[in-house]
Amino acid sequence: MEEQLYILEYEKLQDFMLGGKADFVIVNKNNEHRINYIIKKFPYNDNKFKVSYKSHIKIDIGYIVLESQNIISFQSIDFKHLAILSKERAETFKGLFNFVFVRNMIPNNVSVCYTGRCSICGRKLTDPEYIRIGIGKKCLEEM
Ligand SMILES: [Zn+2]
Repeated sequence: MEEQLYILEYEKLQDFMLGGKADFVIVNKNNEHRINYIIKKFPYNDNKFKVSYKSHIKIDIGYIVLESQNIISFQSIDFKHLAILSKERAETFKGLFNFVFVRNMIPNNVSVCYTGRCSICGRKLTDPEYIRIGIGKKCLEEM
């Protein structure tokens, strides 16, 4: 049986993605295609995150770097070293990243979904108020 997915609202999506343990699926509303991305914080570095996608295995596609309060970028791993599918997944992520972090919105044709685990501590969320933003009450308070 497939795990239940919850739709994330835009409100805290930037914080969700940079929570440290973000695991989410983007669903293309037109064709139902799904891609599972994982964004993990680097140990001992609050400003760097590794971006991967998961199919049967986890494949790294790039990094998010926080250069200052307002400067954030996604750097794809050198395309020479990525397989065609990974290049596509990196391009798709780059598109989503630009929408979320530059245009401050979710593209119209996708939903961002997740399994209901807090992107900061990984605990299963139970309160609908926090399920819709993907970060638990305690973690949100400590931000
Ligand atoms: Zn949490």
